[in-house]
Amino acid sequence: MKIVCIGRNYADHAKELGNQVPTEPLFFFKPESAILHKDHPFAIPEWTRDCHYEVELVVRLDRAAKWISPEHAGRCYASVGLGIDFTARDIQAELKAAGKPWEKAKAFDGSAVVSSQFIPIADLGGEIQDLSFSLFLNGNEVQQGHTQDMLFSVDALISHVSQYSTWKTGDLLFTGTPAGVGPVQSGDELEGRLDGRSMFSITVL
Ligand code: ZN
Repeated sequence: MKIVCIGRNYADHAKELGNQVPTEPLFFFKPESAILHKDHPFAIPEWTRDCHYEVELVVRLDRAAKWISPEHAGRCYASVGLGIDFTARDIQAELKAAGKPWEKAKAFDGSAVVSSQFIPIADLGGEIQDLSFSLFLNGNEVQQGHTQDMLFSVDALISHVSQYSTWKTGDLLFTGTPAGVGPVQSGDELEGRLDGRSMFSITVL
């Protein structure tokens, strides 16, 4: 399976990092080895001084899809989870400045937190573009997102990516992060909530 991540899908987050709001979806991959093992703590890699959390709604693909239109993309998923796209921001900034790919900053071991639970969208009101989610750092809410604020809808993202890379059953789509990203430190506790439900709790080593 693969993980497809979307960059800059919330205007307020694109602006907080000084980026332009994109005119088409920006995507990149994380390998399966990036997934943080269930119930394991997150270890900050020793080669970064500025490792950031990014909470994101995660969509799991239930069927393969290639060249799928946005109108039909809704057939490809039925449930959503929550995750963190951990990012070595200092390394990413160096790579961006040099015009190089981001993988070293984005695809490292443990950089993809994925909730063990995926909730049927039908149980969340039935509309994927009407979901709220948030991240708590040591008990304080640091990120708050609502899927209606996405620049590109989930269906548009699935369609766009499928023009280049075939979706396979079990693939995961990280749909981008809202504003409020920031660094983690050893000892931090992160909790993600989707529609008020606790989806994951992790400790930072
Ligand atoms: Zn992200």
